[in-house]
Amino acid sequence: MRKLLAGAPVAEAMSERLLKETAQLRVAGIFPKLAIVRVGERPDDLSYERAILKRMSKLGIDVEVVALPEDVSQDDVEARLAQANEDPATHGILVFRPLPEHLDEARIRRAVDPSKDVDGMSPQNEGLLFEGDEQAFAPCTAQAVVEMFDHYRGGLRGRRVVVLGRSMVVGRPVAMLLLARDATVTICHSKTKDLADRCREADILVCAIGRARYVTADMVSPDAVVIDVGINVDASGELVGDVDYEAVSELAASITPVPGGVGAVTTSVLADHVIRAARAIG
Ligand code: NAP
Repeated sequence: MRKLLAGAPVAEAMSERLLKETAQLRVAGIFPKLAIVRVGERPDDLSYERAILKRMSKLGIDVEVVALPEDVSQDDVEARLAQANEDPATHGILVFRPLPEHLDEARIRRAVDPSKDVDGMSPQNEGLLFEGDEQAFAPCTAQAVVEMFDHYRGGLRGRRVVVLGRSMVVGRPVAMLLLARDATVTICHSKTKDLADRCREADILVCAIGRARYVTADMVSPDAVVIDVGINVDASGELVGDVDYEAVSELAASITPVPGGVGAVTTSVLADHVIRAARAIG
């Protein structure tokens, strides 16, 4: 094991700052509040919801859970979003994804007020993020990767970053955030040729593909920084990342664990975004 990049110290440092910020807002009569819109009862969503409720209660942020049935209609989801958009006491809106197939996700992404879009799902925030505008709300997981670098003082300028995965939730926004920090970024995906060669070229390898232990030691250059965003359950029911942690941690300069890495920072980023929205909206 070289250097372990754990998420908890990052989340703790952020919480210290965020507690002060919520206290200041309360003095100004502003009580930050997040609305979670959850459709159905997927175990992943319920476990993320529990983690959010715990983090927000520690930080003095109110949470309203709008739990909708699995077979909810498009109109009903949009009506609930309109209510949250118009409610002056609600500062942030988070819609759990993926949504059931009968719902039109593109329309739902457009239905969230961009000023309350704390998980960066609206086209307006995506556009700002791709322009490199720091005011954009980035998806929380993508932002959590950057928070890890900031906390552990990992240099990004001019470094070769390879991002595995090109989803709009993780891969692409991470790539844009790191590009905005002057990294030289390559995005790889399931059609990339010679993937192992591309990975070995990386000073920093960010893995977000959703394949248990897919990235093996022969794909990683010695002394690379490895950020594992993946959350997978392997054949034996164990929670693991996209990286073969045991083998890769022997040669990488530093590596994030799963669990306890990037995932542990995501709820703190969400809190940060709700506080930012509350400050802006008032
Ligand atoms: P996704 O939407 O399924 O996207 C996966 C991406 O990986 C796609 O771009 C896909 O390529 C690429 N890919 C799949 N298999 C590949 C392979 N063998 N080689 C190269 N690229 C491959 O997943 P996601 O939502 O981005 O999530 C990715 C991972 O992050 C998952 O494990 C998820 O659970 C985790 N996650 C973690 C957090 C957190 O808080 N830590 C939050 C969200 C997601 P194509 O585009 O070519 O199909």
